[in-house]
Amino acid sequence: MKILEVKTGKPYKILIEGGLLTEVPEDLKKLNLGYRYALISDSQVAELLGEDLLCLLKEAGLSAELFIFPAGEASKNMDTVVSLAREMIRAGFDRKCAVIALGGGVTGDLAGFLASIYLRGVPYVQIPTSLLAQVDSSVGGKTGVDLPEGKNLLGTFYQPWRVYIDYGVLSTLPFEHLKNGLAEVAKYGCISSPELFEFLEQNSQKLLNYDAESLEHIIYESCRIKAEVVSRDEKEGGLRRILNFGHTLGHAIEAAANYQILHGLCVSIGMVAAALLSEKLGVAEEKISPRLVKLLEALGLPTRIPQELETEEILSFLRADKKVWKGKLIFVLLKKLGIPVFYEEPPKELLKEIVEELKAK
Ligand code: NAD
Ligand code: ZN
Repeated sequence: MKILEVKTGKPYKILIEGGLLTEVPEDLKKLNLGYRYALISDSQVAELLGEDLLCLLKEAGLSAELFIFPAGEASKNMDTVVSLAREMIRAGFDRKCAVIALGGGVTGDLAGFLASIYLRGVPYVQIPTSLLAQVDSSVGGKTGVDLPEGKNLLGTFYQPWRVYIDYGVLSTLPFEHLKNGLAEVAKYGCISSPELFEFLEQNSQKLLNYDAESLEHIIYESCRIKAEVVSRDEKEGGLRRILNFGHTLGHAIEAAANYQILHGLCVSIGMVAAALLSEKLGVAEEKISPRLVKLLEALGLPTRIPQELETEEILSFLRADKKVWKGKLIFVLLKKLGIPVFYEEPPKELLKEIVEELKAK
């Protein structure tokens, strides 16, 4: 088993192992977070893994109940939080309970948020089951839900007590969602680890074939990097923003496409844009974009903006992005692979030029 530690105000461990799910009940006993567990899952994951985990918990003598909500981003809202909370209250879950978030990023964000406000806060653990959740959303303690006005607009910083990563569960993850997570892994390579970047280059095929050993390596490295960044900047005062590499334009593309393209795929295009911007602004000390495009293509990820998206619309979403800090549009650019820098307010004409360039062909 591989173990990482996140050194936030309340430190916690990330455990990584194939087949780890079966070991969760015994570890929970040692953690002793409560006498009753609310296992929260979306409809899809509940069927694939939730029922089995519930049995494991009960066999180990733990009191647990499964609470299910409909799978999909559309469920990540206050209505779902309220309805899960009401179910838990009616089932008699009091302050001595703990929440288990079993699922992708939607489940983690939703269940983590609920745990942070349920009876003024109860402990929770993360069991991420999508690659995106295993390499990104389960670590760092950002919880929250969407509003009709935008994504993740209500939320809390609330660190989990444990993160259990069983990469064995990825075998049922749809291919598009595997690639979705791989984009975030490529991001960690870009901002922090040329070695991870090279590993992705050399093992793209294996990864696309769900090879367990390769997945374990990239999950460990991604969590190691995210844990380090979060440990140094728990509440996104500064450094943590390097994790937004590729996300500034990525979010704008995602919004312009009405959230019909998966987040990671938009980030993939956004990373190419950020690499081009780094080069055109003279920030980059070496050419990065050709190598990045090659890697993303090998991972089956898009590197161009779909023709049907309007340039002006993308640019207007850029301004609206919440990464406009203190009224300024801040991009994460690359000096070299592994060396990120912040850049304020790149010229609008240059952004337009890059968007058009990425739409051509
Ligand atoms: P998701 O939770 O909707 O999962 C994607 C799909 O995969 C769902 O249909 C789910 O049922 C299914 N699934 C999950 N695990 C599976 C498995 N093992 N086998 C088969 N199917 C499985 O979405 P996601 O992509 O995991 O996460 C996206 C969410 O994460 C967004 O809401 C985003 O805002 C959030 N996020 C949060 C953070 C953070 O720091 N908190 C970071 C990044 C993203
Ligand atoms: Zn992301």
